[in-house]
Formats: sequence, structure tokens, C-alpha cells
Amino acid sequence: MPTSHIIIGGGISGAALLHYLALAGKDVLLLEKGKRLGGVIGTHRNDAGALIETGPNSTQTSNPDLLDLIESLGLRGQMLEANPIARNRYILRDGKLYPVPASPPAFLRSSLFSLPAKLRLLREPFIGRAAVQEESVAEFVRRRIGSEFLEYAINPFVSGVYAGRPERLSLRHAFPKLHKLEAEHGSLIRGAIRGGRARWQAARRGEVPRDRAKLVSFQQGMETLPAAIEQRWRGRIRLGVAVQRLQRDADGWVAVSNAGDFRVARVILATDATTAATLLQPHHPGAAQSLREIEYPPVAVAVSLYRRSDIQHPLDGFGMLIPEVEKRKILGVIFSSTLFPHRAPEGMVALTTFIGGARQPELPLLGQDRLAELVYAEHAALLGALAPPCSFNLTAWERAIPQYNVGYGGVLDSIADAEIALPGLHLLGNYRGGVSVADCIQSARNLAAAIA
Ligand SMILES: Cc1cc2nc3c(=O)[nH]c(=O)nc-3n(C[C@H](O)[C@H](O)[C@H](O)COP(=O)(O)OP(=O)(O)OC[C@H]3O[C@@H](n4cnc5c(N)ncnc54)[C@H](O)[C@@H]3O)c2cc1C
Repeated sequence: MPTSHIIIGGGISGAALLHYLALAGKDVLLLEKGKRLGGVIGTHRNDAGALIETGPNSTQTSNPDLLDLIESLGLRGQMLEANPIARNRYILRDGKLYPVPASPPAFLRSSLFSLPAKLRLLREPFIGRAAVQEESVAEFVRRRIGSEFLEYAINPFVSGVYAGRPERLSLRHAFPKLHKLEAEHGSLIRGAIRGGRARWQAARRGEVPRDRAKLVSFQQGMETLPAAIEQRWRGRIRLGVAVQRLQRDADGWVAVSNAGDFRVARVILATDATTAATLLQPHHPGAAQSLREIEYPPVAVAVSLYRRSDIQHPLDGFGMLIPEVEKRKILGVIFSSTLFPHRAPEGMVALTTFIGGARQPELPLLGQDRLAELVYAEHAALLGALAPPCSFNLTAWERAIPQYNVGYGGVLDSIADAEIALPGLHLLGNYRGGVSVADCIQSARNLAAAIA
């Protein structure tokens, strides 16, 4: 009997879908062109003893599906919650690092924002809703809370999540919660106060708030998650199988690969958008074109291992983000060994630096030596690095994270059209439903429920 469901692509989206469909008793096979599951999620330890994350370093438990998946794979004992000090985050202004204020009194005292910017915030509850259908993140922020917050809060935050630019990203699609806050409450501040009040009342009733997201990883890093799915469903996974073409026949679909043809009733494309576009081209050129047009800027991820005594900054937080107006050569740095234990050997610290994105797409492809110099120079200037790192590991993603830019609704509509026009075909991946690991898992679970 041929398999009835095939998933093409074993990043976290495809891997999670495999888990849910297999649990639901579906006859399913996953084809992955690489040697392991995980896609951009990858962890290893280098010779100097640093834990290297090539993609995500952590993820937020922003929806219950991530924790449920961790539970269901028996990984709760290996899960790590970020050091509470990680609530402290730094932003660079005029060459100096300032902590992001975490409470209203801290905000009033903070020198990160000027007095006029703080006073401008008082107008926010009285500003009306958007006059246009779709705004960029930058337009929204400028309109509601002013340019200084755009430059010193939102611009660095957006590059931390999407490696993107607020001028291009769509508020509605890239930050749907903010969009909803304005739509429902007419004001971000009013919405935040009401949300805070509801949480306080729930806490008084002894309820644990579901929406208090935690930042998590695993003792052995993020790859633990896809590796556990690979181990659990080994018999339903074919590694080293690259699907080159999709054909339709009277019974359903044929996935043509380097390892032969796979005939199925249902096929789920869980690859990046460009590969999905290539496979979809003969069947739905319109959706293929939309997928191909998604912007994916390059990002380089550098892990530098230093002697603790060679870094003057206390590294007492999650890390630092760099606003574009500061004109530096990096997007930000995660203080990885502060965030989770065992990221660096005793007496050492590991820093993970992000370079490029939509802001400086030319930088990630400069090559190992030039990027090593560039990153060290930035660490010296911003964190007081006194000597070069003991080890330096670089991963350059030519196409890192899909950008949900203004007009993204058209992309999503055309994907949905393709699914209607092509029964038995589904598209899944981080270009739809959110880019975080937790978002990908939620999208996979929703799709599994729809299929089952
Ligand atoms: C540098 C970086 C940092 C990030 N940081 C964070 C973070 O801190 N927190 C967070 O939550 N998220 C983060 N993300 C986002 C998140 O990691 C990704 O959005 C998510 O892991 C994508 O998963 P995916 O399965 O959709 O895609 P991918 O991981 O791209 O998986 C697609 C898979 O399809 C396979 N494939 C492609 N073509 C074929 C084919 N023809 N046949 C068979 N297989 C094929 C690929 O080999 C790959 O395994 C980061 C992403 C990057 C790149």
C-alpha cells in the first residue's frame, strides 16, 4: 500500500506536522533533502567547548503548542528557561548601551528616550485609528508614538525578530497582536492597561496567565527538539531525499525525487518559499510567482567565545540591539552564556552576533575572515572586548527569514487560492502564520487538525 501523506521538508514546520499526523494515526512519510531534521535549527559544540546555534537560540512559549510538543516528546526535563536576568535588554544610543526600561517608573527615569519623546507618548490614547487599509510598521509607530520610539525601540526590535526593516514590514501581517490592539482598543496604551488589569485579576483568582511567554531552549540547544522528533518517528522519515518535481495524476500526486517517485493522495510542501514556488510552478503559476517574490534577506550568525576577563561589559542581560541610526555593522548580540547554562566552558563567555538582514544585506557574504574582524571590532567598541575571541564560528544564511512586507495579504491569498484549486496539496512554513519556532509549531498543529 503506498503512503497516503507525504511531507516535503523536515525543518521544524514539517517535523512538527509529521509528529501530529503520526499521532493522529495517519499514514505519513517525511522527505528531507538534508542529513537530519531541523532545517535552520542546528546546534553543535565546537572544539573550544562553545555551544553553537546556527539559527534560533531560543524561542518564546507564545502559544501553548510549543510546550505541549515538548511535553509530548518527553523533553520537559531537558528544557531550560532563560536566566531571569534576561529580562534586562540593552539598546545602543549615541554609542552607549542603555537598559530597556521594564516598568513605567523605570521608563520615566530612563535616559534612553528624551523628555519630548516621553511627553509625545501621552498623546497616544487620543490618536485615531489608521485611515488606510494597510500600514507599514514604521508608519504605524510614527503615527501613534512618534519617530524617536521608531528609531530607538521599534527599529532594533524589528531587526531582532525579522532581521527586517520597519519601513517595509506590514503591521497587520508581521505584528498582528499590535494591529489587533489598535483595532480593539483604539490605543496601544489603553489596550496594554486593560490587558494588565485582566492579568492582575486573573492572578488574584490564582490563575496562571497563559499569555505570559517564557523564553526557552534545551540543555543541548535548540536542535534537541527536531532531533527528538527524528528519533521518535525514524521509520517515517527518509533523509537525503530531495524532491525535484511534483506531478498530478488521476489518483493524486507524484513526488519525483533523487530517490525515485512517491505516489500519494496528499502532499504537504514544508520547504522554504522558493522551493515551494519551484514545485508549484506547473500547477499554479500565480501562487508560485507570489512565493518567489517574498523577500528573504541574508543573515550571518557568529558565535565568539571569549575569556570572561577579556570582556568589560557585565553581560547582565539577554543582549543588545543596535538601532539603524547608530550606523554600526551588526544588528545585535545575544549574551548566550548569560541566557542559558553550559553555552561556554568555565571562565569563558559566548556571544552570538547577528549581521546583515534587510538593513545591510551586503555584509553576511563578506566571508569568514572579514566578518571575524568586523565582529571583533564591534565587540571591542561596544562591549569592551580587550582581546580577540578564543574561537569564532560563522554561519551565513543567504536567505534567512521571510519578510511579511506591506502587501503580504496578496501572497497569503494566492497561497490559499492554490490550495483550493489543487485538492490534496497544502503549504506550510515560516512564510505563513509567523516566523518563530513556536509559530511554526502552531501552524503545523493547525494544519494537522485540518487534515485529520
Ligand atoms: C538566523 C536565524 C535566527 C533565528 N532566530 C530565531 C529565534 O531566536 N527564535 C525563534 O523562535 N525563531 C528564530 N528564527 C526563525 C525560525 O528558526 C524559523 O522560522 C523556523 O525554524 C523555520 O522552520 P521551517 O520548517 O518553516 O523552515 P526551514 O527550517 O527552512 O526548513 C525547510 C526544510 O525543507 C528542506 N527542503 C528544502 N527543499 C527541499 C526539497 N526539494 N526536498 C526535500 N526537502 C527540502 C530543507 O532542507 C529544510 O530542512 C531564526 C531563523 C534564522 C534563519
